[in-house]
Amino acid sequence: MSNVISAAPAAPATALATAPKVGFVSLGCPKALVDSEQILTQLRAEGYETAKSYEGADLVIVNTCGFIDAAVQESLDAIGEALSENGKVIVTGCLGAKKDADGDDIIQKIHPKVLEVTGPHAVGEVMFAVHKHLPKPHAPFIDLLPPQGIKLTPKHFAYLKISEGCNHRCSFCIIPSMRGDLVSRPIADIMMEAENLFKAGVKELLVISQDTSAYGVDVKFRMGFWNGKPVKTHMTQLVTALGEIAAQYGAWVRLHYVYPYPHVDQIIPLMAEGKVLPYLDVPLQHAHPDVLKRMKRPASGEKNIERIQAWRAMCPDLTIRSTFIAGFPGETEAEFEYLLDFLKEAEIDRLGCFAYSPVEGATANALDNPVPEELREERRGRVMQLQEEISKKRLQAKVGKTMRVLIDSVDRSGGVGRSSADAPEIDGVVYVKPPYEPHKKLVVGEFVDVTITASDAHDLWAAA
Ligand code: SF4
Repeated sequence: MSNVISAAPAAPATALATAPKVGFVSLGCPKALVDSEQILTQLRAEGYETAKSYEGADLVIVNTCGFIDAAVQESLDAIGEALSENGKVIVTGCLGAKKDADGDDIIQKIHPKVLEVTGPHAVGEVMFAVHKHLPKPHAPFIDLLPPQGIKLTPKHFAYLKISEGCNHRCSFCIIPSMRGDLVSRPIADIMMEAENLFKAGVKELLVISQDTSAYGVDVKFRMGFWNGKPVKTHMTQLVTALGEIAAQYGAWVRLHYVYPYPHVDQIIPLMAEGKVLPYLDVPLQHAHPDVLKRMKRPASGEKNIERIQAWRAMCPDLTIRSTFIAGFPGETEAEFEYLLDFLKEAEIDRLGCFAYSPVEGATANALDNPVPEELREERRGRVMQLQEEISKKRLQAKVGKTMRVLIDSVDRSGGVGRSSADAPEIDGVVYVKPPYEPHKKLVVGEFVDVTITASDAHDLWAAA
């Protein structure tokens, strides 16, 4: 989605009369969104204002996505639009780090008029470029900067990025070549950001990274400090500390991009005790050991079934979300049916399936026996059809149960919220009827306990 953002809180009109204005277009995944938030936070800290339109901007920053071909095209179009509407454009994000088959920078080749290009996670470099082309104002309004930074998400939920980059080399993925090896943020920085977010009214914190379970590997799980206490740079200790601080503010913590390493088992009791949400986003990608090998993924499908069963035994309310790829190069009908059998047994609650897309630069493109596009799509359709039945059955089992829901929006017909099983944007929702009792009200950003009255294959309906 391409949009010029004016997310920063307004500063006094007198003070802003001469403040330089920056337009911002943010594209890509939640990790790119967090990069945008950090750049906008820094801009505001230095006294820049965000512009509502291209015409009102002295300069435009475009944060790009470079993952699949459609995203590359969207980013290139957004840069072209910003150049023709404004003319002064700085580009950052994943596409900035991407080269074409000749080894040339894609952006500079297609849009040579762009002022500067940086890769992802490059706040310092972007600010350097901004200073060069739009000098810093003399009187920055530091006191106007909210402690939680500038957020692009609604006030009641926020993404918290704990590391950048990835040590894996999955053959279908080019993220490590764009974002580099895993670099973990210091645990104290993460905890400080989390506390500021909770203080600012965030009710749900979504922990993200490329590989959440590998947090701290790069610094050999070194000891850090938070609130005067030693805390290891390790996923288990981080999640424990986040759960404790969330409890003080009556908020949720949700974990994304968790790989099924053995130490993830230690997180499940925290979920069973209600310290963090019983929700695990585990991108498995396939189930057949040979396909996983070609994908250069770590775990075999068989072990994943055992692990999922053990997790559910420890925490029966656990929601598992995963993504899969259908039609990976060399995938035989037998391997694909193995995946379907795995899905029937695992009964993943929330599932996304992509038909394999040959991303430029991915080593998987050189594998033998590519699956024709039509067959890739057909297999994706078969996975989604099966998942529809599984999801329908699992959601039906929730009818009659009581659960807590965080309200995202309200209108005359009631509210739309999410339970522990629903991450924003990617999962289903709970439609809540307006309460009969006059003292009960649905309020955006507040929790309400509801009874589930109906379900379909994606969503739930409830009464407060
Ligand atoms: S784990 Fe694999 S798919 Fe995920 S970012 Fe790392 S290399 Fe890419």
